[in-house]
Amino acid sequence: MSTYDSLSRIQSDIDSGAIDCVGLVNYYLSNIHKYKHLNALTAVYERDALAKAKKVQAKIDNGTAGRLAGMVFTIKDVYCHTGHALQCGSKILEGFESQFTATCVQRLLDEDAILIGRNNCDEFAMGSSNENSIFGPAINAAGENKVPGGSSGGSAVAVQSNMCLVSIGSDTGGSVRQPAAYCGIIGLKPNYGRISRHGLSAYASSFDSVGILARSVEDTAITLEIMAGPDEYDTTVSQTKVPVYSNHVSWEGKAKVVCFDNILKHEGLHEEVRSATEQTYKSLQEQGHSLDHLGFEYLDYVLPTYYILTTAEASTNLSRYDGVRFGYRSENAHDLESMYKKTRSEGFGIEVKKRILLGTYVLSEGFYDAYFTKAQKVRRLIKEETHSIFENHDFIILPTAPTTAFELNSHNRDPLEMYLEDIFTVQASLAGLPAISLPNGTDKNGMPIGIQVIANTFEEEKLLSFSKYLVDQVLAK
Ligand code: GLN
Repeated sequence: MSTYDSLSRIQSDIDSGAIDCVGLVNYYLSNIHKYKHLNALTAVYERDALAKAKKVQAKIDNGTAGRLAGMVFTIKDVYCHTGHALQCGSKILEGFESQFTATCVQRLLDEDAILIGRNNCDEFAMGSSNENSIFGPAINAAGENKVPGGSSGGSAVAVQSNMCLVSIGSDTGGSVRQPAAYCGIIGLKPNYGRISRHGLSAYASSFDSVGILARSVEDTAITLEIMAGPDEYDTTVSQTKVPVYSNHVSWEGKAKVVCFDNILKHEGLHEEVRSATEQTYKSLQEQGHSLDHLGFEYLDYVLPTYYILTTAEASTNLSRYDGVRFGYRSENAHDLESMYKKTRSEGFGIEVKKRILLGTYVLSEGFYDAYFTKAQKVRRLIKEETHSIFENHDFIILPTAPTTAFELNSHNRDPLEMYLEDIFTVQASLAGLPAISLPNGTDKNGMPIGIQVIANTFEEEKLLSFSKYLVDQVLAK
């Protein structure tokens, strides 16, 4: 069977009778079995998916199907789904079952999308390689000694290997965009507050965004459209009207694009990623778009600011995992205090513990102003500088990550090496802006290169339209 790259192709094959929903689910299940060794899924909902496929097919046959009939999707192991295990890639949630379904997941199900499985990820979404997971690392299908990126690594591999059409990841500092880049697919982080976080396990609440991994811009647009918008369970969701993103994925006219010279000159940027990015700038200019070379003054501060603020927020968000209310409880405890201590010591992995300790430190009396308050001030400066660029420009374009996918176990010794992978994605996260990673060719070893486009506040519609044009007419295949 041919590879399915878009929902519209699937829907037309269903209409013509070339395939039905049950056949479609079986197609994805066969890929899930074939690529089991990539460790992209922590649970396969085979029975549920087949049962739903039958129901959706009946609705298609009698003309009552929802807009996502024919979309088979997976969710990262940070989303609640009633009656199903949720572990956030952690031992501390062993045995935990969700009591409700995340709003974003429910909205897709209500439009007749079929949920086929749960994706591996870094523990509590902390990581850039999917190596911090109790389930072991997921593996990049483009090079089986390579990481898929993280933290939504399993989601990226599932889309990359046709185990599903679309996957719902989460992006706090790049966790959808960077794995999408490493796996050669599309990854969108919408504006902060565009999609409800109800049912998304919290990492750093002022950054966390529901994100989409997909094979086409059109599928990204319709998935966003269905999930976005106000939700009574999350008051931080914007009340601004959700555009009909799926109607407008086409671009006309000339764009004013910004590139940052100090990013192009950054010592960590690999040569092949640099030249692919420069080639994109050149093609854009050849096609009549303007390119302004600016410097991004705060480049050296984005990672420290991001890691101070997110560890602070994580240390409070993760205090709820104490052995009393959720999942794992140590059997070696002899009183209440040792139950807390042993449960958390045994339940959390090393990276999560490191971040809880760092976050607790930056929030502690005596250091709060020096670190947390200062980082908040710097976040404000980064936001202001980034927003001011959009007063005169349409998009910022930069590499998604400084390298292509690296080898498994290669970044384990030095945490800074790993954190550097996020250097180009955290700016949009600190500023709360929508950003997308698009595939932009491969390096000499065939590993995918990603390019990132950032747009102004809530301008996802414009971002998706321009992305469609870039994919079709500008970027390397
Ligand atoms: N790699 C970044 C981190 O570890 C981003 C993670 C994310 O976006 N969830 O914090």
